[in-house]
Amino acid sequence: MSACGVLLCAGASRRMGFDKLNTPIAGKTAIERSMDALVAGGCDSLVFVVGGNSEGTVARLSVPVPFTVVSGGEQRTDSVRNGLSAASGDIAVIHDAARCFVRPATVKASIEAAERYGSGVAALPVTDTVIRLGDGTVETLDRSTLFRMQTPQTFRLEKIRAAYEAGGSATDDATLYARMFGAPHLVLGSEDNRKLTTAEDWAWALQRLAPPPTHGIGFDTHRLVEGRKLFLGGVEIPFEKGLLGHSDADVLLHAIMDAILGALKLGDIGKLFPDTDPQYAGISSRVLLRKVNELVQKRDMVMSHVDATVICERPKLAPYREEIAQTIAADLGISPDAVSVKATTTEGMNDEGKGLCISAQAIVSVRHR
Ligand code: MG
Repeated sequence: MSACGVLLCAGASRRMGFDKLNTPIAGKTAIERSMDALVAGGCDSLVFVVGGNSEGTVARLSVPVPFTVVSGGEQRTDSVRNGLSAASGDIAVIHDAARCFVRPATVKASIEAAERYGSGVAALPVTDTVIRLGDGTVETLDRSTLFRMQTPQTFRLEKIRAAYEAGGSATDDATLYARMFGAPHLVLGSEDNRKLTTAEDWAWALQRLAPPPTHGIGFDTHRLVEGRKLFLGGVEIPFEKGLLGHSDADVLLHAIMDAILGALKLGDIGKLFPDTDPQYAGISSRVLLRKVNELVQKRDMVMSHVDATVICERPKLAPYREEIAQTIAADLGISPDAVSVKATTTEGMNDEGKGLCISAQAIVSVRHR
């Protein structure tokens, strides 16, 4: 049997406050995502029901199946009626474009149910307790008889057309169908088949499509010498020696900066702040860290976690760990809870153990906002 997707793209986005159907999310509009799911789920033709900006959006789509475009009406019922009049084939798959994360498997299941039973409507059982508040009374409804209706709502085309031609109005197609043909067959929808209605839904969609975090690793060593102040993690630590370097030689911040640059694939701090450049002579590494953090922000990304280990025999760093974590967090504009600073000795072995140098390792995670 042939199935025609009737894609409702005429919504005015009143509750969202902006054009949810025509604003790309991670490069694709809700209309395009819904179209892809309908085709992947088995629709072999499409009717786009458009209004407002969606006419232009649909005109720019590359549609992989035969399709027509019709105008929406005042109410959803009018839009569906217009769409059904332009539909062809055996089965109509009516879908709200705002449910753009519908699974192709749900579309397919609804088509198969319509072939078999005349209808296949995506719905979810209600898991919360639902009550009806009266005037001082509470009625607890029987959850087992309650469903949250989604789309696709799929029917034999001639039946759903007849149901719409009989007139009346409803917020979904199953209600009109039921008036003429009785209860529709339900298929299981999914939580991610969520209708993008509020700003909260939009934020959920952005998060769902956000790329996974990236990670970077950093390592640095500086020689311990007399006559220099010791800075670790931006904190001056009383000690008889300090680290030798062009800047303040804060080995911990250097490892963290290299880790950040690694996560962004921007090379290393030697490339960014060459030690031949006089403007960086004696500079506080905190200034450099803030510059590196600006690169993170410029990419609309945020540091989600920093973990670092300082390798040194002396001085003991335990009393400074909290202050170091807080200083780093402040420079990165993140919570101190997202910064972990650890210290270890090498039990007298290696150059760190002999007090010749201090080293640091860091790993960071960076994610899109
Ligand atoms: Mg260094």
